[in-house]
Amino acid sequence: MTLMLGVSLAGREVLAVGGGAVSARRLRRFIDEGAIVRVVAPELHPDTAGLVRTHALSWQARRFRAADLAGVWMAHVATGDAKVDRRIVVLCERRRVLCVAAGDGSQGSARMTAQTVVGDVTLGVVSTHGADPRRTMAIRDAIGDLVANGRLPLRRNRRGGPGRVDLIGGGPGPADLMTVRARRLIAEADVIVTDRLGPAQEIVRELDPAVQVIDVGKRPGAHPVPQEQINSILVEHALEGRRVVRLKGGDPFVFGRGGEEMQACLAAGVPVEVTPGVSSAIAVPQAAGIPVTHRGTAAAVHVVNGQGGPEPSTLAAMADPTVTTIVLMGVAALPRLVAAAVRSGIPGERPMAFVENGHSALQRTTRTTLADALADAAEIGLSNPAVIVIGEVARADLLLPAPAPQRVALA
Ligand code: SAH
Repeated sequence: MTLMLGVSLAGREVLAVGGGAVSARRLRRFIDEGAIVRVVAPELHPDTAGLVRTHALSWQARRFRAADLAGVWMAHVATGDAKVDRRIVVLCERRRVLCVAAGDGSQGSARMTAQTVVGDVTLGVVSTHGADPRRTMAIRDAIGDLVANGRLPLRRNRRGGPGRVDLIGGGPGPADLMTVRARRLIAEADVIVTDRLGPAQEIVRELDPAVQVIDVGKRPGAHPVPQEQINSILVEHALEGRRVVRLKGGDPFVFGRGGEEMQACLAAGVPVEVTPGVSSAIAVPQAAGIPVTHRGTAAAVHVVNGQGGPEPSTLAAMADPTVTTIVLMGVAALPRLVAAAVRSGIPGERPMAFVENGHSALQRTTRTTLADALADAAEIGLSNPAVIVIGEVARADLLLPAPAPQRVALA
């Protein structure tokens, strides 16, 4: 039977009997907790000797005596001799001193936990079935992974102090393409401000119902929440002491207006941090098997917002056969882009690809060329969200050979 307690050892005396490798590791934990640690042992493990040199603990170089237990709250027994350990365990019992017998978990009145600290929460694992450090550590590590991946509800119910904003890149869609840090920050958030693209829908389904979700998703054609208003939502919630997550598709700093949101937070004195995300500019072509750079084929990438221009820099990128041009938000303005490119003399055979709904079940890739782009877009009904790739890397046979022509077997 074990009652797991959170014991505060700060300023309390802990006696360690035995100076071997086991107690060396444990002693550090007691010291970190602020305990006053005294070691009684004829000899010391080099690590413990190091702690003595830095005055983290005191050492008496001799065998244990019953009088050593005077004034002690807890004893850690690891002499290496089972008989001696047992004798000390019995003495501790008589003196009402909590006792960890390192060599035999069934002895002694206390057991160490395998523990992990996550922010202001300490999680401990203890086996009630004798000591089994490998198993408890394995369980502790598994819990640590859950924490790191944001699978535990770490949100505090009562908060004091200032809030903050985290601008988080959610990647191109699937929740498992988010970073581990993003998952953890989402698990800690009080308010999540979401967009239409990215993993928002999947994430929101998993959230604790107490988390407030504010959808400011911009739909082409529908009325978006103006950026100014999004900025104020972030700032106001944080100023009221909440942990705010601004979850965006892709990366917050790639056509995500993350920079403006960051400025708004800084101007209001709200602590703000950015967690990067996998940008669709790279990950959506990748989902279609298109590397944005490829040794010997494309040595540079030009990423552009297709709603404007096209600027001379974009036409120059498209004209250079060693550059890959990636157009985001480019569906509506595709005719303007193609017309400008043709007018500026870019060869009609320049390869292009449309990748719609990348990394989703609806993903569709269309390979074409500058000359055929508009006809093909019209034929397939090209629609948002889509990434448009222009350049030699968009060739269908770049990574795989083109399908071989059917051979007719001769009889
Ligand atoms: N910050 C985002 C980009 C926002 S702009 C990022 O780094 O990915 C929105 C544009 O991204 C869309 O118009 C489209 O061009 C592209 N996009 C985002 N997700 C996409 C997806 N899953 N499939 C295809 N295009 C996508």
